[in-house]
Amino acid sequence: MVNLSGIQSDSIVDGPGIRTTFFSQGCPHHCPGCHNPETWPFTGGTPMDTDVMVAIVEDNPLCRGVTFSGGEPFAQAEGFWELAVALKEKGYEIASYSGYTFEQLLNGTPAQKKLLETIDVLIDGPFIQAEKSLEIAFRGSKNQRILDVPKSLASGKAVESTSMRWQGEY
Ligand code: SF4
Repeated sequence: MVNLSGIQSDSIVDGPGIRTTFFSQGCPHHCPGCHNPETWPFTGGTPMDTDVMVAIVEDNPLCRGVTFSGGEPFAQAEGFWELAVALKEKGYEIASYSGYTFEQLLNGTPAQKKLLETIDVLIDGPFIQAEKSLEIAFRGSKNQRILDVPKSLASGKAVESTSMRWQGEY
């Protein structure tokens, strides 16, 4: 179960292809210039069970990937881990945004590490207004990286994705 601020079932801006995006309620980062400040409070939102969210994803036959966005998904790491496991079993690519960096999550809570080990792609780091760019695919500011999580975990350091899909090429 996770507490959501919203769901987009046909997103084309949170990763390649048509995706379902689950927006987490609650964010501790409070980045100046954040586009979703209504997601900051850890109160409110809509609690939703894993099986309900999986059914929403499966309801869109064009959906090939799922993105966790925010808010801060890693602030509800246990619930998003459960969702990621259920969706991976069904063959969906899982990406997550986080205001934490990969290095911070590597040293995070056991639940955060578990979630990190389950996803395919991490778009990491806070939004930094001075580094804002409209030129980079799927990110708001240039400090943010699109990381190949399995490769990053295998090498113990952040490895950026070389997938052309994640460079915005379809
Ligand atoms: S991490 Fe994301 S949701 Fe949280 S304040 Fe920063 S930009 Fe907003």
